[in-house]
Amino acid sequence: MLSEGRVGPMSDQENPEGQPANENAKVRRRIAELEASTARLKQTEAELARAISELQAVFQALPDLYFRLDSDGRIRDYRAGSTADLYVSPKVFLRKRMQNVLPPDVGRQFVEAIAKVLETRSLVTIEYQLPMPYGEQIYEARLLPLSDSQIVVMVRNITARKRAEQDRERLLAEVQRRAAELDATIASIADGVIIRTAAGETVRINSAAVDLLGYSAEDLKKPVVKQIALLRPETIDGKPFLEAEFPFMRAMRGERVRGVIMRLHPRYDGVIWTSVSAAPIHSPEGVLLGTVAIIADITQMHEAQKHHEYFIHTISHDLRNPLGVIRGHAQMILRCLDKKDIVRTSAGSILTSTVRMNAMIQDLVDSARLETGQLELKRQPVDLAAYLTSLLEQTKSYMDVRRIKLAVPKTLPPVSADPDRLERIFVNLLGNALKYSPQDTEVLLKVESGELAVTVSVTDRGVGIAPEDMQHLFERYYRAKGARKAEGLGLGLYIAKMLVEAHGGHIWAESTLGKGSTFYFTLPVA
Ligand code: ADP
Repeated sequence: MLSEGRVGPMSDQENPEGQPANENAKVRRRIAELEASTARLKQTEAELARAISELQAVFQALPDLYFRLDSDGRIRDYRAGSTADLYVSPKVFLRKRMQNVLPPDVGRQFVEAIAKVLETRSLVTIEYQLPMPYGEQIYEARLLPLSDSQIVVMVRNITARKRAEQDRERLLAEVQRRAAELDATIASIADGVIIRTAAGETVRINSAAVDLLGYSAEDLKKPVVKQIALLRPETIDGKPFLEAEFPFMRAMRGERVRGVIMRLHPRYDGVIWTSVSAAPIHSPEGVLLGTVAIIADITQMHEAQKHHEYFIHTISHDLRNPLGVIRGHAQMILRCLDKKDIVRTSAGSILTSTVRMNAMIQDLVDSARLETGQLELKRQPVDLAAYLTSLLEQTKSYMDVRRIKLAVPKTLPPVSADPDRLERIFVNLLGNALKYSPQDTEVLLKVESGELAVTVSVTDRGVGIAPEDMQHLFERYYRAKGARKAEGLGLGLYIAKMLVEAHGGHIWAESTLGKGSTFYFTLPVA
């Protein structure tokens, strides 16, 4: 190449071919320019080739299918990243119309899409399903105009994406359904329901809670300190309830709390008694999400309980006290009177009646106590042989114990029992056996020893019990038809069953109508 420096000095001279020097320089410059542009062109060409091969590589690597169509839908050529998504083989579809190769409904979609692409000269996307050998597949086809008469179609299998979308939608619908169910359930619960987050913030509160406490849901969603100021929670004895002991606070610590009694001050005057239960809400991974608390209004129950306690107290003390006086005086009169005196017979009747009345009152009180859980057993080891001998001695003033035959084995392990409650069981069973059998028959009181328990049986030769009555015997106030002439409340067996079970034993009966009955019960060995 000539340098610019040498052009200047030769410009005024002629070159060896006789051309003017400046013409020569022009040509040389032109050649140099051409050489430079050729080099640039070669470089660009190389870059272009590289770009094309890169593009081809990308194109080859894409999983999509490409078709080039004529304006009538005829397939000119194709390229398949994977042949798995070809509905029919290229031999079948090449030079055929798309709409004739695919199922009719999909074909129709293509015809419409092709028309639209040619009309609008812009991208048209369609979605369709094809029955493939490995199952129904969903495809998305993007149609683009190439020229006036050609269209390129890019087809992608979107089955996995669609299924994931459908799963997501199904999951969302399920979540929404469950939330709606939960809302309906919470709203329909008659007790107050309060749901809090793990941070203690109230997120859900039902209308029963709002009605019970008299404050708006907004008030009840205030921070705990504010709620305490509103409701002033108290213990049973009227002392302020410790915040750390609030059922929901305990639930936050992972505890399940049941029936904590709380006195609350609702917006309207007065105090309500509530039974509050709470539980933590955990994620499947065990992370604490929040707590749920249920507030039941037990004010009425509390009033009834107070009434009940008063009633039991009245019966057991006030009613039985005058009875005790009558009984004492009847005993005193009996002692003072001549054996044949007619007044003696009357006094004897007064005494027996007071004892029976006392027993009935005792039955009423015991059943009420048993039902309200106010009866506590004071267990101790009891030697049944000695116990029963002394019991029969004590009860002879009001029971015809001469009819009772006692059969106790020589060696008998002591049982674990509350002697006072045991007396009720024996008196009720023996009383029945004597009551429901003829005066001249014997009642057998038998004790049999076992490894873990002893079995007691009371057998009479009395009226017996009809099969249809057997299953109801131990029910409260149940009396068999034939038994209604005899005195009784229908509570004796009910109480005996509750007491036997409180001791950890069982009670049952066997009977033959007209022949007699046997009542059995077990007591655990001490
Ligand atoms: P009651 O106060 O009526 O005796 P119980 O609870 O002691 O109440 O007994 C319930 C019913 O069971 C009695 O009314 C009677 O019909 C029947 N019953 C209990 N013991 C006997 C028995 N030994 N023989 C026949 N019937 C009995």
